[in-house]
Amino acid sequence: MEITFLGTSSGVPTRSRNVSSVALRLTQRGEIWLLDCGEGTQHQLIRSNLRSSQIRRIFITHMHGDHIFGLMGLLASCGMAGTVSEIDLYGPPGLDRYIENCQKWSQMHLHYTLRVHTVAPGLVYEDADYSVTCGPLHHRVTAYGYRIQETDRPGRFDVEKAKALGIPFGPVYGQLKQGKTVRLEDGRTFNGQDFCDPPELGRSLAYCTDTIYCDAAVQLAYQADVLIHESTFAHQDQDMAEQRLHSTSTMAAQVAALAQVNLLFLTHFSPRYAPGNALRVEDLLAEAQAIFPHSQLARDFLTYELPRHRTITQSAQSTIAPAPVLDTVPVSPPPPHRYESLKHLAPSEFQDLVGITPATLRALVKLIPPKIGPRSSPPKTTVEPENQVLMALDYWRNHLTYRDVANLWNLGEATVAKLIREVKTHIANSSQFRVATPTEMKANPGQPIITLLSE
Ligand SMILES: [Zn+2]
Ligand SMILES: [Zn+2]
Repeated sequence: MEITFLGTSSGVPTRSRNVSSVALRLTQRGEIWLLDCGEGTQHQLIRSNLRSSQIRRIFITHMHGDHIFGLMGLLASCGMAGTVSEIDLYGPPGLDRYIENCQKWSQMHLHYTLRVHTVAPGLVYEDADYSVTCGPLHHRVTAYGYRIQETDRPGRFDVEKAKALGIPFGPVYGQLKQGKTVRLEDGRTFNGQDFCDPPELGRSLAYCTDTIYCDAAVQLAYQADVLIHESTFAHQDQDMAEQRLHSTSTMAAQVAALAQVNLLFLTHFSPRYAPGNALRVEDLLAEAQAIFPHSQLARDFLTYELPRHRTITQSAQSTIAPAPVLDTVPVSPPPPHRYESLKHLAPSEFQDLVGITPATLRALVKLIPPKIGPRSSPPKTTVEPENQVLMALDYWRNHLTYRDVANLWNLGEATVAKLIREVKTHIANSSQFRVATPTEMKANPGQPIITLLSE
């Protein structure tokens, strides 16, 4: 499973970023599945090392032009090349009529089978190796996120071990391979599980665009290997994100943290952060990484291969250095994010490590305005309370300044005073945190209210 970003800009293309499309190459079956197809996607395919003739399925999130205007050209070219025999296209209501009308008015006749499927939340496609589900997002028009899930594979069967034990060749091997217990004619009994490695977890990719923060995205992406989430705006442009129902970098990071994914790719950047502007996509990345450390920026032609044998024990941080077109990102599995290791701690251990009790942290979380802090309604079973509170603490530590509280969150002075009092009473006793004094905060409103002393 290999992802290639073909377009990472929102709305309009820029010099270095085309509009939305992601190619998923299923290496073992020689197929390419596309997620969205903005204008110019076929040109991007030509410039990539992917072959359009391998396109087999296309999943469309919503009917905005920057996600579909590349469809007709691509579909027509696939027909002319004569190497495509069928394409299945999935998308929201209206996609079928859009395709039908474009074909009709441009006299477009395809010499292969094109099937258009109107999707609804739930299972969209399934075969022996993969399943695709979709979930509702929150955007100005009906929009769906997709999750592509590889089926778990049975562990490797140790033939040599079976041979060494003198188990005769035949159907018995098949039964052992399936983990069954078999009894041989000579009376010996063997358990298949003793001959099989543990099953290998299937890989998964969630694709969420366009949307403002929504719990459905958290559910769709839950524990996915990779989440591709839109990050149209920087945190300071949150008002625009809310008006247009797009996400900020911090919202994308919150989805990644709550969903406990392994790796987040930010994409669908507003051209306002293109090089030469005051804020750049690297700033969006820094904002996201403050909440979810394993965040990365997508860029056109970036290729990432989802590693097999997902593990969460490796601690080495893999970094993606700026690299030329058509590179491949290092494939070492990402490290667990820092909340992972605190999941199973007893309250006292938690306090020793973090410096305050889980209950105190939970109380703090409640103080965070819902627009910025972790949402209150992620699925209960999927979010450990410690994860939530630590995420919140991270947020407070890195972001919460007097200026934020006073201006950005638009809270009255009395509320600000109360908030700061609460923070002080909850954290003042901790040896690991320092809370700025009101005088310090007024003198330097951009300074974080909470600092971790060990940093
Ligand atoms: Zn868009
Ligand atoms: Zn849109």
